[in-house]
Amino acid sequence: MENAAPVILLVDDDPGVLETYRRSFAQFEPLLAHDGVAAQTILSAFAVDVVVCDLKMPGMKGLDLMKWAREHCQPNPEWIVVSGEATLDATIQALKLGAFDFICKPILSPMQLRTAVTNAARHKRLLAEVAERRALEVALRESERQVRQLVENIADLAWSATADGRIDFYNRRWYEYTGTTFEQMEGWGWRSVHHPALLEQVVERWTRALATGEPFEMEFPLRRADGVFRWFLTRVRPLRDADGRITRWFGTNTDIDEARAARSERERLIADLRQSVEARDEFLAIAAHELRTPLTALQLQLEGTAHLIGRTSNPGNDKLLGKLAVASRQVTHLGTLVNGLLDVARCIQGRLIIETEEVDLAEIVRAVVERCGPQAQSAGCALIVDAEKEVKGRGDRTRLDQVVSNLVGNSIKYGAGQPIRTTLHAVEGVALLRVEDRGIGIRPEDTARLFARFARAVSSNSYGGLGLGLYIARQIVEAHGGTIDVASEVGQGSTFTVRIPLVGPPAERKREASS
Ligand code: ADP
Repeated sequence: MENAAPVILLVDDDPGVLETYRRSFAQFEPLLAHDGVAAQTILSAFAVDVVVCDLKMPGMKGLDLMKWAREHCQPNPEWIVVSGEATLDATIQALKLGAFDFICKPILSPMQLRTAVTNAARHKRLLAEVAERRALEVALRESERQVRQLVENIADLAWSATADGRIDFYNRRWYEYTGTTFEQMEGWGWRSVHHPALLEQVVERWTRALATGEPFEMEFPLRRADGVFRWFLTRVRPLRDADGRITRWFGTNTDIDEARAARSERERLIADLRQSVEARDEFLAIAAHELRTPLTALQLQLEGTAHLIGRTSNPGNDKLLGKLAVASRQVTHLGTLVNGLLDVARCIQGRLIIETEEVDLAEIVRAVVERCGPQAQSAGCALIVDAEKEVKGRGDRTRLDQVVSNLVGNSIKYGAGQPIRTTLHAVEGVALLRVEDRGIGIRPEDTARLFARFARAVSSNSYGGLGLGLYIARQIVEAHGGTIDVASEVGQGSTFTVRIPLVGPPAERKREASS
């Protein structure tokens, strides 16, 4: 815009003069009009910057053209009128109408005319710039007014500060809440509504934000009009101009008193809960440990008593031995439960130890199924095994036995007297074990949580148990670098699938790799 050539219109009824004009302004490619009507047409079609106009023309006079343009051209061009002695009055009128300059005829110096035109064009440009700036200022003031109105009506306390941090505006909510006046608050007056315990820290952080130009965010209490302090989250952002210079700061204070109270209550509850869980786990570990010793002693006592009775031949011995066998079974069951608790305690403390050796999983599966035979029989479940002859790999024999026992035991327990199928295959270096029943099944929403501690999906009135077997099984399988999952449908049965790498647990593999 600054360097754009001005659009010039030259109006004169004398063709000779027009030709001279054209040559003088050749570089601007001027528009030419030989009378007022032709000039009107051009002015209607083009945004002309400067008109050089003869005042004395047949038909429409130069002055009439000027008056017409004042009404019809937006923005009005700058006018340079060309006049002779006969048109002195008209020249004065033209100047009164706002003509920028006048040139006397005959024009002896084209240079003089060019200078007048250049000055007029510059004048026009300056006027346009001033008008543009003024319009921008008006728009800015209007948008500031709108923003302020918005800020006045938000629920938060809000304020703005100059670039050096002097607060010069607070919204209505600020005054309502603090019960203060602008005079009390202006500049750094806000300090009087801060809690003394935090004021120093607030001032320090605000000063640092001002120095670095970084946004500021902090929680602190502000005093309400009645003297009560409530907690606020304060966020302050710098506003920058096009060059990135900070022009103002804008801040809001959001009341978070209730949210904060709720948050600390939640944190307290979580801490309490965590403490309770820790206390429970500790109790679990101690109780399981303490229970095991007398249980072992009791089992030994029962076995010893049975042995003693067996050596005498008193009538009624068989009855006694039968009762001892029942007691012994109960003690064994109790021992299994206590061992489960002990394992859980070990898992929680990360002390589940896996002792690896060369094992044949097929052998383990067959042994477990055989051991479970009597239990399956009394539940009315047929046990079917489909295992490869040998599935050898590295693992903890006792722990893997525990996993298979748990899965087969559960299938019998929840198998509704239907056949149970256990399959075992080696597939690409992984042992794939499946225990499949056609029992009560598991609801989809329960399947994911069954591997957690104490998780059960049945009522304890119908089925006994602590909900630890699957948790321990998963810990053991994962310690071997494997996975365990379940697919089930209520009333149709469940299939538990275990995948264990035959090359041994990850810890052992790592050891081997580094040696
Ligand atoms: P427990 O059997 O002692 O409750 P587990 O950890 O072995 O503990 O099993 C957790 C829960 O998973 C059981 O309470 C039962 O709801 C469900 N569950 C396990 N195995 C089966 C299965 N084969 N069929 C149906 N539900 C099962």
